[in-house]
Amino acid sequence: MTMRVAELAAHGGPEVLVRGTRPVPEPAADQLLVRVGACGVCGHDALARRGLLAAPVGSVLGHEVAGRVEAVGADVDGDWTGRRVALVQRIPCGWCPECAAGTTARCRQGPGFYGEDLPGGYAEYVVASPLNAVPLPDGVDDVAGALLTCAVGTGLKALRTAGVQAGDVVVVTGAGGGVGVHAVQLARHLGAVVVAVTGDASKVAALQDAGATEVAVRPDGRELRRIAAGLDRPRGVDVVVETTGAPTFAVVLRALRPGGRLVLVGNTAPADLPLDPGLLIVRELAVLGSAHATRADLVEVVDLVTVGVVRPVAAQVWPLAHAAAAHAALDGRTLVGRAVLVP
Ligand SMILES: [Zn+2]
Ligand SMILES: [Zn+2]
Repeated sequence: MTMRVAELAAHGGPEVLVRGTRPVPEPAADQLLVRVGACGVCGHDALARRGLLAAPVGSVLGHEVAGRVEAVGADVDGDWTGRRVALVQRIPCGWCPECAAGTTARCRQGPGFYGEDLPGGYAEYVVASPLNAVPLPDGVDDVAGALLTCAVGTGLKALRTAGVQAGDVVVVTGAGGGVGVHAVQLARHLGAVVVAVTGDASKVAALQDAGATEVAVRPDGRELRRIAAGLDRPRGVDVVVETTGAPTFAVVLRALRPGGRLVLVGNTAPADLPLDPGLLIVRELAVLGSAHATRADLVEVVDLVTVGVVRPVAAQVWPLAHAAAAHAALDGRTLVGRAVLVP
């Protein structure tokens, strides 16, 4: 049996994403076969398409999958069959020291990361595992479900990594993007006061809607300090969630108070970052990296969406055959929220 996919014909612009066919994958004894209902289109995918990550030509990208379990391997509980699920980006091994510690984003022993180590969700089917699948309630459709693991879960993990407390003032950069707009909602949910930073003035209303107390369009250091002072932070903000990288890093790093934390989760314009060692030393700043959510994070995200605390923001939905158009829109940075493909 074959399935339709979108695959990388080369590394380059959106047009390198072309239609293809593949055999439907066979789940191993400990795996699930998931019929893809929807797959998010991530900034990570755009980097992979350009050849900047580990995805060779011929890869099927896509690590933000929701769908239905159609079959299970011999060792898997048959109750999984027929369940609607959202998937964590990586299938971990389940037994290495990182898995035992719950830090499954660091596991390098399992089947791995969709779109790089194993074929991804720009396809009609993917394999999964009870270790990375979380059941979805009926009220969360596949398009919303596809946003939960990366667009929502990544932000929750980042906020936790930064140790955000109720009352903190949190800056979110790239706030109109898929991770950004949900990080705004999540930070608000955790009791933080949120300053959303965006490059696009047309996104201000959407960011206020998501819960931002202040929205700054391409702010310089002076404007961010003024905003922080207005929020009772004359020495700077408590936390930055940096989803863009080079375009904003230097400005937001300087906006931190002494003892502040900056957590990097996105790298939309890959470049070296200007890090002033004196600034880090004198202010005792922490710069941290945070990868993707764990299964436990995704369980929490599904609960938050089910009770309405987080509203998944899907920017636009394209058929799988139009993956190139979805990538062109992503490159154009005009979307608020996540682009999604449906097979
Ligand atoms: Zn992603
Ligand atoms: Zn492991």
